[in-house]
Amino acid sequence: VRVEDKLFQNRYLVDAGRAHIKVRPHTTPSPALKTLLTACPARCYELNDKGQVEITADGCVECGTCRIIGEPSGDIEWNYPRGGYGVLFKFG
Ligand code: SF4
Repeated sequence: VRVEDKLFQNRYLVDAGRAHIKVRPHTTPSPALKTLLTACPARCYELNDKGQVEITADGCVECGTCRIIGEPSGDIEWNYPRGGYGVLFKFG
């Protein structure tokens, strides 16, 4: 089974308008932000047409990888979703 197929089994409750991860506004991405493009297992980070890194946190599995890479340098701001929101893992 591919990772993408396993991730598809999870369910997400999106807290509309209250993204739990924010990317600091930038003109060119820092090395840490560039790393996030490939480090996120759910592929939440993408380059926009201006070459800036954007996040769509809807499919985030709250693994914390981007928090370790991007938060110490201030490139991103990371908080757990409010109770009841975010990923709902399916086991088995
Ligand atoms: Fe991706 Fe994990 Fe960061 Fe969520 S916490 S955006 S899944 S790296």
